[in-house]
Amino acid sequence: MTSAEPIHTLADLDSWSIPGTALAVIGHPIKHSLSPAMHNAALARMAHTAPRFKDWKYVRFDIAPESLPSALEKFHARGFKGLNLTVPHKVIAFGLPSVSVTPAATIIGAVNTLLWTPQGWTGHNTDGHGFSRGLQEGLHRDLHGADVLLLGAGGAARSAAVECLQHGCARLWIANRTQANRDTLLAQLASLAGAIPLSGFDPASPPADLPAGALVINATSAGMKSDDPSPVDLAALPRPAGVYDMIYNPPETPLLAQARALGLPAANGLSMLVHQGARALEIWSQSSVPVDAMREAVVKAMTAS
Ligand code: NAP
Repeated sequence: MTSAEPIHTLADLDSWSIPGTALAVIGHPIKHSLSPAMHNAALARMAHTAPRFKDWKYVRFDIAPESLPSALEKFHARGFKGLNLTVPHKVIAFGLPSVSVTPAATIIGAVNTLLWTPQGWTGHNTDGHGFSRGLQEGLHRDLHGADVLLLGAGGAARSAAVECLQHGCARLWIANRTQANRDTLLAQLASLAGAIPLSGFDPASPPADLPAGALVINATSAGMKSDDPSPVDLAALPRPAGVYDMIYNPPETPLLAQARALGLPAANGLSMLVHQGARALEIWSQSSVPVDAMREAVVKAMTAS
């Protein structure tokens, strides 16, 4: 992302005068978001063939969690076409009366994409779609029929777990630093799982009956900071078929470094970022979107930073 792109605040909404159709990502912090670079590259490409996108612009806002309800009212009044929500807003927005949540996002319990309607915001979640498409792109693997070891119980893990179950994974195991959060998630997923075996596990002492050939998915934040511990010791697991880490910055976490050292197929979350963004832009634009342009822009922005 270029440094020329300002970080807007709530106060800017009161005097918003930028013409055209506005989209925005809102988070706290928002400085490191690659979404403006990714979406503006896509919009520029789309404008070549569809002039209606010429005045579309994707900007970024730093909004504190306590300001989210009033900010959403102002974004709506100002006619913003769509919003992406990132940490910490995904779960907060889910609970707001001003957001009408789609059935699919209701199962997840979080929204990352809001669409303007005359009545208010409709809340969608595109992370699960981004995850399954990212897995196909990064590891060439489908969730259908797969054994999955999922690490994490936060918003991203919830999206991934729902996606695994809805795609008909064979079996799903979930581990998390805080066991109570893991158990809450397992209980919430039980009815969706139906006949699909669903269990918790402790990554520090993996059960003997874990199968070889599973997909290991990191949906925890462990690995974002340089001194973070790896969320699991891959050498202590029966040999997995592949390792997908939702983290894309840094591009190689300790988990991915270990996977490569063990000769396991491994991929970071850049492909998920691109595909969750592409689905959001499809929702707002009701048009097909240039995924390649989005991927190129993200890679360029990451290289530049
Ligand atoms: P979240 O809701 O805050 O959940 C964080 C999760 O990480 C929780 O399960 C938490 O466990 C666990 N965790 C945090 N620090 C840990 C540590 N030091 N060791 C082990 N576990 C730790 O966040 P989120 O939205 O789910 O995001 C999780 C990760 O996914 C982030 O790295 C985010 O960047 C990534 N993500 C990527 C994409 C993409 O497009 N590639 C999309 C969404 C998210 P506790 O329950 O114990 O707190």
